[in-house]
Order: sequence, then C-alpha cells, then structure tokens
Amino acid sequence: MINAFYLARALKTFRPHHQFLCRGYSTHIATGNTACEDHEPSFLKSVEMYFDKAAGISGVSQKTLSHMKAPDCMLKVTFPIEIKDKVEIITGFRVHHSRHMLPVKGGIRFATDVDEQEVTALAALMTYKCAIVDVPFGGAKGGISIDPKNYTDAEVERITRRYTVELCQKSFIGPGTDVPAPDVGTGAREMAWIMDTYRQFHPNEVDSIGCVTGKPIPLGGVRGRNESTGLGVYYGIREFVSYPEVQKHTGLSGDIKDLRIIIQGFGKVGYWAAKFFEQNGAKIIGIGEKECGVYNPNGLNIDKLFNYRRSRGSFLGMPNVDIIEDPLEILELECDVLIPAALERQIGLRNADKIKAKIVGEAANGPTTPLANEVLLMKGILVIPDLLLNAGGVTVSYFEWLKNLSHMRFGRMTKKWDELGKSQIVELVERNVARKLSETEKKQVVHGANETDLVFSGLEDTMISACSETRRTAISKDIDYRTAAFVNAIEKVAAVYEGSGIMFMN
Ligand code: NAD
Repeated sequence: MINAFYLARALKTFRPHHQFLCRGYSTHIATGNTACEDHEPSFLKSVEMYFDKAAGISGVSQKTLSHMKAPDCMLKVTFPIEIKDKVEIITGFRVHHSRHMLPVKGGIRFATDVDEQEVTALAALMTYKCAIVDVPFGGAKGGISIDPKNYTDAEVERITRRYTVELCQKSFIGPGTDVPAPDVGTGAREMAWIMDTYRQFHPNEVDSIGCVTGKPIPLGGVRGRNESTGLGVYYGIREFVSYPEVQKHTGLSGDIKDLRIIIQGFGKVGYWAAKFFEQNGAKIIGIGEKECGVYNPNGLNIDKLFNYRRSRGSFLGMPNVDIIEDPLEILELECDVLIPAALERQIGLRNADKIKAKIVGEAANGPTTPLANEVLLMKGILVIPDLLLNAGGVTVSYFEWLKNLSHMRFGRMTKKWDELGKSQIVELVERNVARKLSETEKKQVVHGANETDLVFSGLEDTMISACSETRRTAISKDIDYRTAAFVNAIEKVAAVYEGSGIMFMN
C-alpha cells in the first residue's frame, strides 16, 4: 500500500482529472498483470492525463487541443478462423489517432489484453512520439486479441493474413495511408506475411513493399531495425546521464561503465537495450521476465541468459544468479537505471514508493501510471518518458519506409565513391608526412558508410536532438521530462493542424 503522503500529493497534481478515478471510469484494470490499484485510471486515461497536463502549459488553443486529443478513426473487426475442427471468432483493431500527416504509423500487437482502449492509447502515443523525433507520420496502432503461443505457426499466419485482408478492404493499410510495424507478440515474420497479403491486393502498386516496416532484410527490411528501439533507449539514457544537472541530481558520474541497470522484459526491446549497455561497459544486474526475474549484483551475461531462456523457455534453474519469483519484485531492487521494457502499467500505486532506481528509463509504452509518476518525481527519481525514449523504433521504421520508396539500399550509390575520395586523401597525407598507415588504420579511415552505419548514425543523431529539445523545454519551463516531451509534441502537431487552415476544423 502506498505511503499516504505521496498519494495525497500525487492526487493534488492531477486534481482536475481525479473525477476519472472516482467515477469508476477505469474499467480496463488487470491488476494481476500490473502494479496498479483498482482505482487507477486506464492506460488510455493515463495518456490523456499526461496530455492534459502538458496541454495547459503549451501555447496551443483549446480548439486545436481538443481536436488533437480525440482519435480520428477506429476499426474493429471480427472474423472467423477455422482452428482444428472448430471455428474461432478473432477480434482485431486498428486505430488512427491523428491523420495530420500521412501515412500514419504504429505497431501491431498480438496479446490477450489487446482491446479498443489499449490500442487507442498506444495510437495516441505514436502521434506524439513521431512529432518528438520529427518523423513525418501521424499516429496509429493495431492489435489482435490472441496469445500467439496458443496457436501453431500456420494458424498465426492465417490469422495475420486474414486481419490484413480486413485492413486492405477498409483502407487501413498502404504505403501512403497506414504503415504498421512490429510490437509485442509480432516480429519480422508477421510483417512479411502482412506485406505479402497486401501485395496480392495491389499487384501493380510500385511502392507496395512500403506498406509495412520491420520486414526481414531480403523482403525489403532495413539493417538495424531489430536493434533500433533498444539502441535508441541506450542512446537516450546515455544522453541524459551526460547532462551536468542529471549528474548533480542523481550523483551518477555520466560514465556508462559506472551504471548498474535492471531491465524488465527480455523481448525485442529489452534484449537489445541490455546488449548495447553491456557492450558499452554497463553492468546489467537484473532482468525480469513474466515467469521470474534473475539477479546478480556482479553483472549478468546477456547472451548466456538469452540462450538459456530460449532453450528452456524460462530463466528458472539458471545457475549463478538469484531467482526472483515475483515478476514485479525486480522493479523494486536497488540500481542506477531501471528500464521497464515489457508492458504498460508496471509501475503503479502498488509499487511506486518502493522503486529505488535513480533513473527510470521507459522503454515500454505506458509503463508508469500518472499517480505513480508523481510519486517517482516526489522521490527525486528522474523519469525519461516512453514517447521520447522508445522512439528509436519508429525512427528506423521511417528509414525503412524511405528505403522502400527509393527501391535502393542506403549507401549503395555512395559507399565506393566515399572510399575512393578518402583513399586519395590518405595517399596525399602519407606522401606529405612520409609515413605509411598500417592496413588496419587505412581500413578504418577509408571505410565508406554501409546501410547499418547510416541507420545507426541517423538514429543516434535523432535521439541526441530529441533528448536535447526535451531537456531545453524542461529547463526553460521548469517541468519534468515527460511533460516537456508532451509540450514539444503538442506544439509540433498543432503547427500542422493550424498551418493547414480550416480543413481540419470545418
Ligand atoms: P516483445 O513481445 O518482443 O517482448 C516483451 C517481453 O516482455 C516478452 O519477452 C514477454 O515475455 C515479457 N513480459 C510480458 N509480460 C511481462 C511481465 N509481466 N513481466 C516481465 N516481463 C513480461 O515486445 P517488444 O517489442 O520488446 O515490446 C516491449 C515494449 O516496448 C512494449 O510496451 C512495446 O509497445 C514497446 N515498444 C516496442 C517497440 C518495437 O520496436 N518493438 C517500439 C517502441 C515501443
């Protein structure tokens, strides 16, 4: 149970919205999977509360704000699928939160909790996220309420293809309208099926390959997309810990090698975030998964953990680590940076005052409820918000989409040319300084950028700029990073709504 002092102060911050909590609005509460009290608002209400808090600080007119906040359109489909000898009715969703820029963009989630409010919340976050990293897309999200583990691969393929048919028929997919991507429970395999189905309906469309991102490389994917969200999380946290005011506030040195990190969720995002922190010298001391967590204060080996869990299906029985049985407990252990990278609503009023990290870096979407967020801030914990920190995925999806529209691998036209130019400079320098570079030195200097180099450097630059913009707003308005990120996003989206004239209003 939360400390009464924190709760009273947290509620005060959100007083205008407290009515949500009392009216029993918060229907979608699966407390078993979350750290929320029953009276905490739903995921969608939480996003709206964060939006409202920032909207009041932004200079945007109420008219534009109310238009921006409401989702533009929602699709709910049900379709039958024959599973063994029975017919099962499957429910799927796709929500376009804001079509101020087209295409709209957002992942597709396969999970039992998927419902209209969750997909709408995630679609809204996508609108603001794209604005924060200057990706010229509107926000969308989709999902199917299934646990893919309950179906064979062939059944998952049939469900994915049938859902795509629904999206095609209703114009909720296409390189110029709506471009899905992977999310929880989906990956490159599902994106390949989606693209293949879309192409059956649009055989003559030259850009059809750009109807979805996160595809396998041979099918038009871009190198670096798998790693992108986790790598963006790494770049973002690296940026924040380099800021002098963050070092002063947390007592951290700013050196990645000094960080002790705990990550909840060892899927696509959690795994890659862990890998990049490990590669750069940080100590990963805890990883949480749904069956249990593993902890070792001396550091964990990420690939050993990954291989163990892949072969046994769980961390249980892993040698040389402490097993933490309650999946939520890992969040409460002492560390410098806590990275929730699993699902929404993992830090709620049931555990917020037990969090001991100095920084919470939100890799998942919506891991912290608004009241828990206030508790963290009151405890002096810095929160780097989801809509900024996990924007690396959509950034690289944007690169993939551009690659698909140009029908060419990044670097194909420039790599050799760059290398030739650099070789000539090296020869000139060698002649003038009368020293020959070793073959290794020469290789390093002359190397022209390939696709991975370009994608990673584009991602790094994007994350550095977005973090710095967020920091600037936070300092100038004396607000927390989440509110600052929302303010920046709201102002950027409003500029499009207002600059487009009456089209959006009448
Ligand atoms: P994923 O399905 O690959 O991984 C999620 C992991 O979390 C799984 O390993 C799952 O077992 C674990 N998990 C589920 N419930 C848990 C619990 N109660 N405790 C601990 N672990 C639990 O999904 P992902 O793509 O890595 O997405 C993770 C989060 O990041 C989601 O919130 C998603 O919306 C967000 N996100 C993903 C991307 C992307 O590019 N995939 C981009 C931005 C944001």
